[in-house]
Amino acid sequence: MVSYEENYLAKRPQSLCKMCGKCCRMATISQSYEEIKKLEAEGHQGAKDFLSIFEPYESLDQAREVDKETVDKIINLHKLDGKYNENMRFYQCKYIQKDNLCGRYLQRPTLCNHFPSSPWAIVPEGCGFEGWLFWKREEIKQKVRKEKEELLELELLKKKTTNQETLKKIELVEQKLTRNINLYKEYGSQDW
Ligand code: SF4
Ligand code: SF4
Repeated sequence: MVSYEENYLAKRPQSLCKMCGKCCRMATISQSYEEIKKLEAEGHQGAKDFLSIFEPYESLDQAREVDKETVDKIINLHKLDGKYNENMRFYQCKYIQKDNLCGRYLQRPTLCNHFPSSPWAIVPEGCGFEGWLFWKREEIKQKVRKEKEELLELELLKKKTTNQETLKKIELVEQKLTRNINLYKEYGSQDW
């Protein structure tokens, strides 16, 4: 099986990074600050890494002063029932320098190296990866659509045979295709 590093990271063209430092000044996570602190206390490595570099802005206004466009973009994407998610906090890294370079490049945690860590990563407004991430998402959507078509074809095939061995093989393929489609369920693969 191809690893995440080979399949995604190695293919991500690092030259697209504009080294603007926006992602270091405007990070957010799905958990509340209290939840991430609790995870850190329990020894969760991801939480420890995150809090080893990021500190929360004191207020939404303070975050907006740094990058209003990105804050508003993220808030809109994470609205709950059409309202601002009060649990959401924005963070900045302690090590980003005035020249937008990393102050601890060689010791930075893996999460920095992985960013943007998937085609669905939310990147700051104007990030050099925006277009590439869009095309990666489109590629995946096309693959999922093709797999859905294959499922329909298999459905027809099943109606044309009574051979148990063939039916068993078809079932295995169906399971594999369904698993692949479900991999992207949280991103809406059922509707693509
Ligand atoms: S926001 Fe995007 S372009 Fe800017 S430093 Fe981060 S990854 Fe690079
Ligand atoms: S450790 Fe460096 S790369 Fe990571 S967020 Fe901070 S400044 Fe950016």
